Amino acid sequence: MNQKPNMNKTRKIALEEHFMTPGFEHYSQAFTKLMSKGVLDRLSAELSSFDELRLQTMDRAGIDISVLSQTGPGIQGETNPALAISCAQQSNDFLAGQVARHPERLAGFASLPMHSPEAACRELERAVKQLGLKGALVNGHSGGVYYDEPAYDEFWECMQALDVPLYLHPYDAYITPHVFSGHPELSGATWGWGVEAGSHALRLLFGGVFDRFPNLKLILGHMGEGLPFLRWRFDSRFAVYSHGIKLKKAPSEYFGSNIVITTSGVCSPPSLIAAIAEMGADAVMFSVDYPYESSELAAEFIENTPMDDKTRQMVCSGNARRLLKL
Ligand code: MN
Repeated sequence: MNQKPNMNKTRKIALEEHFMTPGFEHYSQAFTKLMSKGVLDRLSAELSSFDELRLQTMDRAGIDISVLSQTGPGIQGETNPALAISCAQQSNDFLAGQVARHPERLAGFASLPMHSPEAACRELERAVKQLGLKGALVNGHSGGVYYDEPAYDEFWECMQALDVPLYLHPYDAYITPHVFSGHPELSGATWGWGVEAGSHALRLLFGGVFDRFPNLKLILGHMGEGLPFLRWRFDSRFAVYSHGIKLKKAPSEYFGSNIVITTSGVCSPPSLIAAIAEMGADAVMFSVDYPYESSELAAEFIENTPMDDKTRQMVCSGNARRLLKL
């Protein structure tokens, strides 16, 4: 008998699952122009699907709920701050409309016009309170501005008051680091995006954002962009080279409490086991990164990585359900 690998034993929630707002295609040109027509056509169909194509893929992988977010860079790719505000509203209204058609299967993270902390705050509040979105997903910096800057305390305060998480998703560095010169294969998703997003998260940590807003939850994808595996070194070297910066806790202690992670795009059992050991079983959540990664492969990976049933249930859905109040 031809036994299919087990993919849907454990019910799952996935939280880095992308869609395309109609009219937003041009924001993604920097990476879509590198794709063949066949691949681009498939991705476009999947990004634009909120019905059979997407739901059947979720069914095959045992995913009960996908939390949707606009694919990168979205609003963070908009250079006009005023336009960013109206585009974010348009995208969030569109998303809420799609979620409303399948409220049992879909949920959403808002896009935010981070160019202005005050505007981002207002849109987040509208998205959460009026549209029922579960938090926000932001594709990194806005024109080279990072959110550890004091002006963003207003935004973090708003986020903490609403008690919703921010998913910090990667995109291109503002200026391509010299080390990538002559190596375009390294500056994008293969390596550079993770360095960029991981560094941004560390700016928030070492910039004291979590000391000022201790209940904040920041979600990092791609197995925490590799950061969980360096917790020990952050403590060891910061103790020697603090440059006068003071934190209330050891750097490692913000992981698992303020910083939580998803497995999106890293289907490696040894990495998952190590990430759970570093972060705690309540700080690691299943995700796919649809449609850039295979839902079936991600499901097979999470079902077959050795762990006890309770841990698997927490990683597959329990932690997400608690964090997003689903
Ligand atoms: Mn992604």
